[in-house]
Amino acid sequence: LKNKYEVSKNLLNVNNNEYKHKIVNIVKGSIADELKIKPGYKLISINSNSIIDILDYKFLICDEYIELEIENLNNEILKFDIEKDDYEELGLIFENELIDKPKNCLNKCIFCFMEQLPPNVRKTLIFKDDDYRLSFLSGNYITLTNIKDSDIDRIIKYRVSPINISIHATDEEIRCMMLNNKNAYKVLKYIDRLNENNIKMNFQIVLCKNINDKDVLNKTLLDLTKYVDNTLSISIVPVGISKYRDNLFKLESFTKEDCIQVINSVSKLQKEFKKLYKTNLVYLSDEFYLKSNIKIPKFSHYEDFNQLENGVGMIAVFEKEFKKEILKFKKNINKVNFKDINKKICILTGVITYEYIKQKADELNKLLNKEIIYVDKVENNYFGKDITVTGLITGQDVIEKIRNNKDKIIISDVCLKEDEDIFLDDVTLDDVKKVNKNIYVCDNSAYGMLYAIFELLKG
Ligand code: SF4
Repeated sequence: LKNKYEVSKNLLNVNNNEYKHKIVNIVKGSIADELKIKPGYKLISINSNSIIDILDYKFLICDEYIELEIENLNNEILKFDIEKDDYEELGLIFENELIDKPKNCLNKCIFCFMEQLPPNVRKTLIFKDDDYRLSFLSGNYITLTNIKDSDIDRIIKYRVSPINISIHATDEEIRCMMLNNKNAYKVLKYIDRLNENNIKMNFQIVLCKNINDKDVLNKTLLDLTKYVDNTLSISIVPVGISKYRDNLFKLESFTKEDCIQVINSVSKLQKEFKKLYKTNLVYLSDEFYLKSNIKIPKFSHYEDFNQLENGVGMIAVFEKEFKKEILKFKKNINKVNFKDINKKICILTGVITYEYIKQKADELNKLLNKEIIYVDKVENNYFGKDITVTGLITGQDVIEKIRNNKDKIIISDVCLKEDEDIFLDDVTLDDVKKVNKNIYVCDNSAYGMLYAIFELLKG
């Protein structure tokens, strides 16, 4: 790292705060640390360009040589000439990861889960963002209803790819109705531009019974094939319906029969797409298969697993990993003198995965030659009984479930916040442990589950 360090007082108009971005932290050992840039300083420009947001910042710091202008705590302008590796980060941490205010959503979708949350829910759960920069940073899905041509220009200029798009329906009237936004019909014109400029896209369809399913769904999927060269995946997820829907649009849950109908109709298209485009292109979320009792497709069905975060292909991944890990488990159980082989182990899971996890527990019991592992489903009283996925299990429902359970209990970390031991209802893991200290959190994977069982058996 080479740098020239120069201080020039009041060289720039320091009153213009619009594009000055407060630095709140510095990564230890980074270029910024070496340059003695401190928290509280403000970034003014890179190579004489103002920075609107994270896209400008990421793009401008790519170069090997950059010129940085920073304002210190005395309003003095510091200039740094930096020579570094291509793409090397500077180590500046800003107040907001976007380096700008997030764009909020202008829709009022008939299925929006944020509108059906219990009162007093954590504030961060309520913010309805719809920001293409978050599509790039965190993989969020966006509707393109609050976007301008200039935003599309920036996506193309900076090659923000893939862009994750909530499409729901290509029929203009139905899309406007579903998003409750009269401008929602414009989406295809933006997608045309992204496609012409080879920006890759993932599409998501939240399926609502009798609204965008059946013929509407078929039309949406066929319309999207126009973009097949730049489409990484199209996912279909069933609408989530909580018990807090008073005064909201009437929506119905998908029954077992509905799920079978969806699977059959989408399978036909998948076969056609495979023949024509050498890809399944469209993937149904695991919930459809679990609810209909139809076998989850093989691992290879999901190709690049582009929508794992959306619950598409998670069981296939679990299944593959379980098959591999159970062989190791089998090898290792013979080497260990289990202290607690008679102590029962309970695996907690959401209602939707109960039968599947139970099959795995049965396999393990067979292997151990003892009935010591069992599965218990946690019904979701917090959001309502229609919410059945494990990821939305809350602390208070866990507490009620395990209050009198004397066995060792395993729960997946998918129920907890990513960086904190706290459930969606703000109940902490410690709160749960106060009620029953025998609860163990495992990684949300087959390996995690088997590892936890193994450790608990060792005692
Ligand atoms: S786009 Fe629709 S579903 Fe997403 S936050 Fe906005 S209103 Fe809710």
